Amino acid sequence: MQPVQETSETASSPVAAPRRLAVLGATGSIGTQTLDIVRLFPDRLSVQVLTARRNAARLLQQALEFRPACVVIDDPEGYRQLREALAGTGIEVLQGEEGLCACVQRPDVDVVVAALVGFAGLRPVLAALEAGKLVALANKETLVAGGALVHEALRRYGGTLIPVDSEHSAIFQCLVGEEPASVEALILTASGGPFRTRPLETFDRITPDEALCHPNWSMGAKVTVDSATMMNKGLEVIEAHWLFELPAERIQVLVHPQSIVHSMVTFVDGSTKAQLGVPDMRLPIQYALSYPERWEAPHERIDWVQLGQLDFEAPDPARFPCLPLAYEALRRGGTAPAVLNAANEQAVQLFLQEQIRFTDIARLVEAALEYLSEPEPVPSYEHLQEADRRARHYVLELAGVAAH
Ligand code: NDP
Repeated sequence: MQPVQETSETASSPVAAPRRLAVLGATGSIGTQTLDIVRLFPDRLSVQVLTARRNAARLLQQALEFRPACVVIDDPEGYRQLREALAGTGIEVLQGEEGLCACVQRPDVDVVVAALVGFAGLRPVLAALEAGKLVALANKETLVAGGALVHEALRRYGGTLIPVDSEHSAIFQCLVGEEPASVEALILTASGGPFRTRPLETFDRITPDEALCHPNWSMGAKVTVDSATMMNKGLEVIEAHWLFELPAERIQVLVHPQSIVHSMVTFVDGSTKAQLGVPDMRLPIQYALSYPERWEAPHERIDWVQLGQLDFEAPDPARFPCLPLAYEALRRGGTAPAVLNAANEQAVQLFLQEQIRFTDIARLVEAALEYLSEPEPVPSYEHLQEADRRARHYVLELAGVAAH
């Protein structure tokens, strides 16, 4: 990642104007926690844009509380309801992907928090970077599918990317003041999810309810299932590759069940830095919004005596086959990561709808990766969109589910 540039928005100043946010995916887990941070710092942060896919009721509630200039919703019925409910308030109501891309380019937006799920984040993030915005990125699928395009947009238009994902925020924090050439390896920690010790022979009986029960983090459904398969860590390896410009073999994964060490960096002199904190996404969200400052906040501190011990172990590829699949996609390059991502999004949705088994997720992703990935050096957006569409279709076909 290009070093984050000091802009007038990020420069430290006691009288700086509030940073004006566009929160994409405001009604979700990261979105609502972002709004918690805005509530904590009303003098430093304000909200210009809020968006959702179909949760019109929650978006309306948020709009009435934060009084943004604009809201965007994907669902046509939600759009109709919001237009009616917000008539006369001066709040503009937009719809769909076009609305998302327009709102992130508004001149009154300083920071775009990308907290929607999946490939749907890619176009709005590219639009934000094209307008030179600072993007606080939670939506890892954007970098997984379109890392090369995001890099190109950063190079051409001078926008800025700051990670929100706790692991990447940890690495970002460990790298402050360090030369890129002094980094030897990144170590991403993983909780191991709810099935770290479950007998392997019972994996094909795992239910959505069991997969949605994460031991340490409360998150949206898709990322929670990804954590249970450890595809989440695989996506994060690809995300780290694009953010920190290191090859797959210098990005390691370590299972750490307590989720206190959020990730680490080993340097060429043999020293390792780690960033630690309680598992609470509001910490990395706040850091992305306050960077390069740190703002005093009442978040829970680690109780070292209560904590007792920290454990680490190597991930088991037989238990978590999605992790080696993600490394394979990164090594293949071209459209492979986009295929991996789309096949996984589709398979997770089918699993949540009880149409396939938990163990089918990795099987379907592997098949899509094998048959569909193409070695394009820098695929265009249209190429990625087509790879995404074909991978979803392929997974539906293999699973024997009619596409709609
Ligand atoms: P949620 O499912 O909780 O929320 C997703 C948000 O995006 C909702 O506002 C949803 O609207 C909106 N949305 C979903 N799909 C679309 C779409 N196609 N078009 C427009 N808007 C859409 O997800 P999370 O907050 O858990 O995750 C968001 C991102 O952050 C993911 O990429 C995830 O991997 C990443 N992340 C999440 C963490 C967490 O703790 N939750 C931790 C680290 C990373 P609606 O509510 O109307 O459906």
